This record gives sequence, structure tokens and C-alpha cells, in this order.
Amino acid sequence: MSKTRVPRPLFCGNWKLWGSLSESVALATGVRDATASIITTVDVAVGPGFLALATVAEKLKSSALGVAAQDGYWEVKGAFTGEVAMAQIANAGARYAIVGHSERRQLFGETDANVARKAKAALGVGLTPIICIGETLAERDGGQALARVSSQLDGATRDLPDAELVKVVIAYEPVWAIGTGRNATPEQAQEIHAAIRAQLTARLREKAQEIRILYGGSVKPDNVASLMGQKDIDGALVGGASLTVESFAKLVKEGTSACTTS
Ligand code: PEP
Repeated sequence: MSKTRVPRPLFCGNWKLWGSLSESVALATGVRDATASIITTVDVAVGPGFLALATVAEKLKSSALGVAAQDGYWEVKGAFTGEVAMAQIANAGARYAIVGHSERRQLFGETDANVARKAKAALGVGLTPIICIGETLAERDGGQALARVSSQLDGATRDLPDAELVKVVIAYEPVWAIGTGRNATPEQAQEIHAAIRAQLTARLREKAQEIRILYGGSVKPDNVASLMGQKDIDGALVGGASLTVESFAKLVKEGTSACTTS
């Protein structure tokens, strides 16, 4: 007999720099139509670039498909040229804000302290932060994966009150698996997800079971089911495979059926 999984899984696309305005609208509405019948037991979101965010959100307004910003700034207003405030993102109709993506950390010097500020600011305006954490290849090869992920998790969430912490989404994304076609095995991912859950449980006790821990790193339609078969993997953050209606809808379908039939 099929059962609904707790926490409710989330499949979120991250389009990075992909797409003109018209391409973004076409992809978002295509995903909306292709996943409409599935978004009853899971949550699904697309992640357009900032210039398309408001238009995409407007087009998806009356559908269950959510919109995620790829970043966001913690200040509400002021002289911060080029930044986009979490309040502006919420006002544009987004539901989620990705914070601390490894590309932001590696290419733009994002620190744990900044990720913490961004997560707090997102929660403050009713957005769900998707907090990305993950080790580099050198850290994994050096046996430091668990320690690295643990310190990033602590750095991003330490100052959040428990009532706010339960609302966040964590995305474990090993840096060596992002955009490389090389993904962690389901067992490697589960090991880290279980450690993340244990760290959250130490603080929140049974409430930690409600927090969604996504896996990200070369998730595709043909490997999502085996990942979703793991106890502590509650969905996926998806880059490359979220860029066509066909692959993202297939990924959502395969991922959803893997978690509603076990
Ligand atoms: C990402 O951008 O967060 C990501 C996981 O990318 P990809 O799926 O392409 O590895």
C-alpha cells in the first residue's frame, strides 16, 4: 500500500544563468503543466534567474508549482548596489530562497556567517531558505566530509531559534558532484544525511524529523529513485536536469513514485 512520506518531499530546480525571459516562462509553464497531477504528495519548485523571477511567479500564481530565488541579501533596504533583498524576493512571489550554494561560496566568497544572515532574513519575510552545505573533493579525500558539513550546518543555523529552524530546508550538495555528472552513491549520500539529521535531532529532538534534507549533485531522472529510497533523503536540488520540461518532469515523477510506494 502506498503511503505519504514525512516530511513532504521537495524537488527544486536551480537554473543558474540559464534562460531569457521568454525561455524562462516557457520552461516554468511547461513544468507546471507536466507536473500538475503529481504535485499533491510532494512539493516542486523552479529556480529562475532574478530577472525572470517575478514574471515566472506571476504565471505560476494559481498553480502548486513554487518558485525559488537562487540567492538573496539580508538587508531590507539601503546602499547595497546590485543586491536583491529577501523582502523583494518574497514580494515578487517566490516561496523559497537558495542560500549558500557552493558556487556562491567558492566564486563569490560567501561565508557561513553570511549564509546564516541570509537564512534568517529569508525566514523573516516568510520565505523558506534552502541552506546548501557540502564538502569539496579534497575534504572528502582527506576524511573531512562529515566535519565540514557539520560545521557549515552549525554556522548557518546556530543562531536561529528552534521555531524558525524547523522551517528550513537543508540541501547536502557535495561540491565534487555538482555539474560533473559524478554523483554520490545513495549510501554515501545517506551517511551524510543521517549525520545532518542526528545533528538537528540533538537540538530539536523529534521535530528534526520534519526538516527536509535534499540531496544535490548530478541528480537525473535515472538516479533519483535510488536516492529517494534512502531514509533521510527528502528530495533533490537539481541543476542541469531541471533545464528541460522533459527531464525535470520525469525526475519529479520518478522521485515521487519512489517515495510513495515504499
Ligand atoms: C546545483 O546546481 O545545485 C546542482 C546540484 O547542479 P547539478 O544537478 O547540475 O549537479
